[in-house]
Amino acid sequence: MATLANPVEMAAEVKGRFGAYGGRYVPETLMAALEELEEAYERADADPAFHAELDGLLHHYCGRPTAMYFAKRLTEQLGGAQIWLKREDLLHTGAHKINNALGQGLLARRMGKQRIIAETGAGQHGVATATVCALLGLECVIYMGEEDMRRQELNVYRMRLLGAEVREVSAGSATLKDAINEAMRDWVTNVRTTCYILGSALGAHPYPTMVRNFHRVIGREAREQMLEQAGRLPDVIVACVGGGSNAIGAFYEFLPDASVRLIGVEAGGRGSGLGEHAARFQKVGGGLPGVLQGTYSYVLQDEAGQVSGTHSVSAGLDYASVGPEHAMLHDSGRAEYVSCSDEEALQATVALSRTEGIVPALETAHAVAEAMRIAPGMGKDEIVLVNLSGRGDKDMGILARELHLGGAPAENKGTSAPEESL
Ligand SMILES: *Cc1c(COP(=O)(O)O)cnc(C)c1O
Repeated sequence: MATLANPVEMAAEVKGRFGAYGGRYVPETLMAALEELEEAYERADADPAFHAELDGLLHHYCGRPTAMYFAKRLTEQLGGAQIWLKREDLLHTGAHKINNALGQGLLARRMGKQRIIAETGAGQHGVATATVCALLGLECVIYMGEEDMRRQELNVYRMRLLGAEVREVSAGSATLKDAINEAMRDWVTNVRTTCYILGSALGAHPYPTMVRNFHRVIGREAREQMLEQAGRLPDVIVACVGGGSNAIGAFYEFLPDASVRLIGVEAGGRGSGLGEHAARFQKVGGGLPGVLQGTYSYVLQDEAGQVSGTHSVSAGLDYASVGPEHAMLHDSGRAEYVSCSDEEALQATVALSRTEGIVPALETAHAVAEAMRIAPGMGKDEIVLVNLSGRGDKDMGILARELHLGGAPAENKGTSAPEESL
């Protein structure tokens, strides 16, 4: 098996940089906080006791290792490569996000911070953070856009039930980007007592590196499980990319394996025009390098450099920028980035639900859609591994509406079965 130089380790020579990307573009008032966090993280990462506690909770509390599952019926239906699923959807709270929230929560406690703040879009990171705060006895404040609070009402209730305070953000587009701005403002004001738990491989150094490292366990387990259960490494790994944390966690251990193709799937939304999607790496109408919220990466922006609006049926992929490590992997060609439309994601949700009895999150369904696209053209002995980042329970309201699960649409009630509207 050929081995590539690991581009990440090469870039790690400059701390917090991934090639030209990454860095720490923040107001002076946050510099000290980021330095304190970086130092504490490096000390914790080098301490076996920290890893022992984290690994223990990942196992006994979160349910790691997650299963590696051969999707036999979906494979047969597609008639090509074998589809295997890394079941992060089986983790406590229903998605990969708890890997990182738990790691950062333990770190905050080590640093003696009693108060936790976080941002959330779809609410999954907010729920994971509120869960960890309940577990560790920490105070928890979650910033969430007004629009997202409306779209993801159930997750708001879950966070409150877990003891978190959910603060509504009505500035700007009242979504994730605005929630991050408010959380950063809070952090500047309360930096002595407060730790900011960031939810994806985004933001200023050390977040992209730290978040990736907390999710590396996905790829580490997947590598071992593939060798044990299939006797070989996968030919392709597919993961959806919002900020990029589940994807980088799945990809990282395979970066040196030249035989393993890595495909990240962005939100193609409802069209290729700016504002219609969140496909930062799209060739035409996609993003350009720029700084957003502390890091240098690809950013969807207009000709004047104004951050553009985004659209996706899945709130978790609906963000104008992307983790800086993905920007590097994109430019170097080590990973490929494609997009799937809202419609393809909805169809993939139905396909996986009906062939395997697994309802994926809408974010995750983008990765399933790409696997369904490529598998038929591949050999039956080849393997496509999909990182199944989360389960679809949180999306049931959207799915009910989009797939007419409540029955026929009002205008032709009684005449069309749910299938006909797919
Ligand atoms: C939040 C979320 C994502 C997107 O975030 P990444 O950081 O890109 O992984 C994907 N899938 C699920 C289930 C999520 O909750």
